[in-house]
Amino acid sequence: MAKKYDVVVIGAGPGGMTAALYASRANLSVAMVDRGIYGGQMNNTAAIENYPGFKSIMGPDLSQQMYDSSVNFGAEYVYGSVESIEDKGTIKVVKTDSDELEAKVVIIATGSEYKKLGISGEQEYGGKGVSYCAVCDGAFFRNKDVVVVGGGDSAIEEASYLAGIVNHVTVIHRRDQLRAQKVLQDRAFANDKIDFVWNTNVTDVIGDDTKVTGVKVVNNQTNETSEIATSGVFIYVGLLPMTEPFAGLNITNDDGWIETNDKMETAVAGIYAIGDVREKNLRQITTAVGEGGIAGQQAFKYVEAHSEADKSEVSR
Ligand code: NAP
Repeated sequence: MAKKYDVVVIGAGPGGMTAALYASRANLSVAMVDRGIYGGQMNNTAAIENYPGFKSIMGPDLSQQMYDSSVNFGAEYVYGSVESIEDKGTIKVVKTDSDELEAKVVIIATGSEYKKLGISGEQEYGGKGVSYCAVCDGAFFRNKDVVVVGGGDSAIEEASYLAGIVNHVTVIHRRDQLRAQKVLQDRAFANDKIDFVWNTNVTDVIGDDTKVTGVKVVNNQTNETSEIATSGVFIYVGLLPMTEPFAGLNITNDDGWIETNDKMETAVAGIYAIGDVREKNLRQITTAVGEGGIAGQQAFKYVEAHSEADKSEVSR
């Protein structure tokens, strides 16, 4: 039999954990479903320096502190991979790989995942030198040379993190300008363990079958090809929304992100979306947390309005 809750939050990143905190503190019964450890992408981040209240905090430490807050008023953490949401009007049925949960409100906070380059050798050398997580894998490359692919906040922030561990970092970027915030750029430019290869695309990851030995690159201005010897390839070329289980609800745009209004309402009544999975400009822990607060509060109003409606239905 399906377990019943007022609110099911899907995803236990900063947005989801904040929504769970707000909804449970408003006395709603809340389940927070995640297929992995709580914290989401914060767990892949070394030093977080733009979350107020902490000059600098390790991602996994902030995850733990947020989790402790989120369950403090009774929200339950439920392990599972969500496969679908069925909209039955005032009741939503959330199916996971092992469970069925019923809720009056569903808050989608599934976030995004790292985009792959889709080049030869990328998949083959996954776990053998190709990585999408410097915090998880950086230590394997102590005193070795690595490359970082990309020019956004993730690439440049993680390049600086890696420079503290490895011998040398080469950032390979497809343009001659970085997209990353200026503070991150300035720090990376000032670090003599980091250099930059501009206007260049990585075309192949190469190795000796057991481990990465280098990358093949092409300069997209001159078409000149070359090889860069490296032990590690850290790929940070953007994000993809994790919205596949919700495709049938018609709440995603052409690129797969979920559109909401400023109350975090999607096109389906009783279903909200927050954090990185939303169509928006600024994907940050701070914005996810703010949206989690809004959705948690909206969930309370929605449940209250619908129980009033149910009561008047019965008394008629
Ligand atoms: P992003 O901002 O989308 O940047 C992706 C980078 O990869 C861009 O430089 C892009 O090049 C490059 N790229 C994309 N596709 C490529 C391809 N096929 N081949 C080569 N290069 C490719 O992604 P992100 O850095 O992961 O950041 C995602 C979001 O999280 C952003 O909103 C970011 O602000 C946020 N974030 C914030 C922080 C922080 O505040 N400390 C840290 C990490 C992430 P172009 O520049 O040429 O497009």
